[in-house]
Amino acid sequence: MLERRARLTAFAAGLVSAAGFAPLSLWPLTLAALALLLHLVSTAQSWQRAALLGWLFGVGHFTFGNGWIATAFTYQAEMPAWLGWIAVVLLALYLAVYPALAALGAWALARRGGWPLVLAFAGLWTVTEWLRRLFGEDTKTRFRPSYFPFTEPSAEFDFSCFKCHGTGKYENDRCRPCKGSGWIELGGSGMVHPNVLRAVNVDPTVYSGFAFGFGLDRMAALMYEIDDIRYLFENDVRFLEQFR
Ligand SMILES: [Zn+2]
Repeated sequence: MLERRARLTAFAAGLVSAAGFAPLSLWPLTLAALALLLHLVSTAQSWQRAALLGWLFGVGHFTFGNGWIATAFTYQAEMPAWLGWIAVVLLALYLAVYPALAALGAWALARRGGWPLVLAFAGLWTVTEWLRRLFGEDTKTRFRPSYFPFTEPSAEFDFSCFKCHGTGKYENDRCRPCKGSGWIELGGSGMVHPNVLRAVNVDPTVYSGFAFGFGLDRMAALMYEIDDIRYLFENDVRFLEQFR
């Protein structure tokens, strides 16, 4: 009974998630639907069930999301609408393989390191794809252990330099943005240090926390070769107007 309800919910969440895209563009619904899918997958008893939930989500998502194809059949090709809908559903059955694989991956990762690992992996993947779009397909990223005073353990996220493409040299000289290392730091993260929790009267044996920061200002400073990052926060319109 619970199984069946989970499957129906996954399918319904898939339908709702399509509303986040044009023409409705209700994107918070997509985020909520994805969170719901993650929750359902976390309760799955086996990898087969996790994959099935992802697949049902995908069938719902792509059937609703690609409904315009049925309309196109009728108006553009003057074919009956039912034929278009058959095409839409068949396409959805196939495309849903991808969310099924994603659900399977999330389930397997959660088994190894819990849901924080799934979220960390999803976040890193998203940032990596974003950097590849921004700086080119050959951009590499790395996630490595690091030190910060207020988190323990700590980790940092770097990406290969957009100017020297990771070589550390630019025009036979030491590359400036990466200071010759070939890597640029983008963000830091870690588990909140127990002493920090104690300082705000939170019991670290009961509660834990994670922290992360992401340097958008740093990125802007690197891209436009701004000498001092503080210029960005002085709100001098003459300065800010240079960047559009
Ligand atoms: Zn460089």
